[in-house]
Amino acid sequence: MAIPAEIAAIGSRAEAMLAELGAISSEPQRLVRLYLSSEHRCAADLIAFWMREAGMTVTEDALGTVRGHWRPDRETRLLIGSHIDTVIDAGKYDGPLGVVAGILAVRELAARNADLPFGIDVLAFGDEEGSRFRTTLAGSSACAGVFDRASLAFPDRNGVTLADAIKAYGKSVDDIAAAAYDPAAVVGYVEVHIEQGPVLEAEGLPLGVVTGIVGQSRMRVIVLGEAGHAGTVPMRMRQDALAGAAELMLLIEQTAVENQDDGMVATVGRIEASPGATNVIPGRVGFSLEFRSSSDARRKAAIEQIKADAQRIGVKRRLEFAFEPFHETSTTACTPLLQNLMAEAIAALGLEATRLPSGAGHDAQVMASLCPMAMLFVRCRGGVSHNPAELASETDMGLSVAALVRFIEILAARDAGQRGRT
Ligand SMILES: [Zn+2]
Repeated sequence: MAIPAEIAAIGSRAEAMLAELGAISSEPQRLVRLYLSSEHRCAADLIAFWMREAGMTVTEDALGTVRGHWRPDRETRLLIGSHIDTVIDAGKYDGPLGVVAGILAVRELAARNADLPFGIDVLAFGDEEGSRFRTTLAGSSACAGVFDRASLAFPDRNGVTLADAIKAYGKSVDDIAAAAYDPAAVVGYVEVHIEQGPVLEAEGLPLGVVTGIVGQSRMRVIVLGEAGHAGTVPMRMRQDALAGAAELMLLIEQTAVENQDDGMVATVGRIEASPGATNVIPGRVGFSLEFRSSSDARRKAAIEQIKADAQRIGVKRRLEFAFEPFHETSTTACTPLLQNLMAEAIAALGLEATRLPSGAGHDAQVMASLCPMAMLFVRCRGGVSHNPAELASETDMGLSVAALVRFIEILAARDAGQRGRT
């Protein structure tokens, strides 16, 4: 399809903004922007400048979330946001695109002199990646009113706690509670984000409606056998923990493949075998296991299946398997009504609106505890993210802003219609 000149212009404006933001790094050779660092301060100031330029007034809350307010006099607000912190050696689109898209959408609405029944707040959160502290989603949690104060004691690698860092950033932990939005005053939350996966590219589509953010179960699996001489213990008499672990790993992979229609993925990302010598049968193996799925029930059933498989392998090979869970998050569904409105907005641009789950976590999953939530995914090259090679094209970014503007207009028309009826 031919891309209208104004969409192309918005896309190149987005690229220029992201390039400027991407240059704000604590390291000259790679992009590193940690929560509550001086680079965070610098990026926040630049974003505040753009927000004002787009016609917003700007405030900042106790956790450093920059808030651009358009039409602050309106009683209810639509929230648009994403994060401006990065992983170590990051790309420049993961997070900042959602903030820039929000600012450009407001700029567009202001230029059209749009009269909406709600105001808009664009939110730039500072802690989504969890690269500095063990906590993640601190900024969005505070906005949603679900911030966990226990995380204030978490130290970074230099022993600076989150509470210390908040103070050093010029904020007060006493103000965190005041950062929470009143749910009655919020229309919804919408986040534009690069897909971070290869699905849209494979389908040849620039944009997709997110159905939900998958839940995760992470655990450590311990396999106990018996170490022995690799030369003298016959095969039939071995209790090889690593061979048993390998058999289970293939079943883990197979289980995820059988459930992939609901976005199930399973990964063993780390393994240690002891004693770890060429000429010794491994007596003990520990490995990480992570399951993600958009169905909590199917994810839990898959884990039970794996435990039963482990039991069976244990009997056969005379091994003991133990499962130690350490992280569990439930699936967060995107609000069906907002999904439909987003699909309508994409279709209005002449594009096919495909739907897909998010395999990665996002601020939106926390904001969903506050209000109706939607996400718009933007195609990224090769599905690559958390990597300097990450890339979203100017055209796709321009289309994402156009879809966001259309979404806001559709939501506004609906909202105004409902008010007219009551
Ligand atoms: Zn992100």
